[in-house]
Amino acid sequence: MSSSENIYCYHCGRQHPSGEMRRIDTKGGKKWRCIKSIEATKKNSSQRDAFGKTVTMINKSENQARIKARLNAERLLATG
Ligand SMILES: [Zn+2]
Repeated sequence: MSSSENIYCYHCGRQHPSGEMRRIDTKGGKKWRCIKSIEATKKNSSQRDAFGKTVTMINKSENQARIKARLNAERLLATG
């Protein structure tokens, strides 16, 4: 076999050149997966993390705004 042999990528369901492949541990044992799909998954999960953090921050600031608004209303009622 030459160095340009193709290896089956379990993630894509097709073969890639061996130079683009990495052997990784899965629940089902060691499998070959292409670097591209590994990087894509990493990127996706970090984007998802960033998105989740942003949503959490928005939720927090919305909560704080709501709490402040309620405190203001209660203060108005108390003094009114
Ligand atoms: Zn692949």
